[in-house]
Amino acid sequence: MKEIRPVENILSSCLVCGSMPTIKSHLIPRAMAREVQVGKAHAVAFKPGKFSYTQSGLYEQNILCAACDNKLGLAEKLAIQTFRRIRKEAKALPVGEYLLSGIAGDSILRFICGVLWKYSVASKENGRIALGRYQDILQKTAFTSIDVPSGVDAILCRLKRHKDDDEVFAYRAPSPDRKEGVNGYRLLVGGIFIFLKLDRQIPARGALARASIRNRPDLPYVVLHAEDFEEYKLPSKLINNDGRLSSFLDKQEKQ
Ligand SMILES: [Zn+2]
Repeated sequence: MKEIRPVENILSSCLVCGSMPTIKSHLIPRAMAREVQVGKAHAVAFKPGKFSYTQSGLYEQNILCAACDNKLGLAEKLAIQTFRRIRKEAKALPVGEYLLSGIAGDSILRFICGVLWKYSVASKENGRIALGRYQDILQKTAFTSIDVPSGVDAILCRLKRHKDDDEVFAYRAPSPDRKEGVNGYRLLVGGIFIFLKLDRQIPARGALARASIRNRPDLPYVVLHAEDFEEYKLPSKLINNDGRLSSFLDKQEKQ
């Protein structure tokens, strides 16, 4: 059947290069939204039939042309494969700090910048975030090959619910946060909790100083217990109350 496109979609031009038309762009990569279904089934096994929300994820129609969306798609593909590798490797690992060889930190940072940028141009209903002066910086980092600016860095944490966990239990759209005295955003995709630092300050000690990924030829990551994170606690509570998990997954918290 022929797809019928709404008029405003035909008229809108790409926010990055100005080309027309724009296409459907997923805010969280679709493959990452889909991975959650496995974890979700697992998480609600004790309550069969009570939890049946679909997780295809949210998208925007008017932000990117096919070429620009594809550019992000390449970074997203690498991130999906990388996060799968981390989950597999971390299955046998205790809490601690590790390195994934052969994956450059900057390539994952460009992926994170792309996701955050998409949320900065998303509709309010889809959980738009305000990046301020970092909107332009993240756009350049995601869509061009400029060096990742020093104010932009991230830490990756594999959250495990139990000893042999290699699954994805939830994803979460970006929400503003502050860690170790610096500003940034937290998000959860592919079973990996990410804190993206958007701040010129560089903490002298702590996890950000030791395990941040910018400029690293091999990818640092930290294995942690999921129970210590609200990304685990809140969905568990919602599942228990039979609440709408999707409203938590797709939107940032109300400020
Ligand atoms: Zn474009």
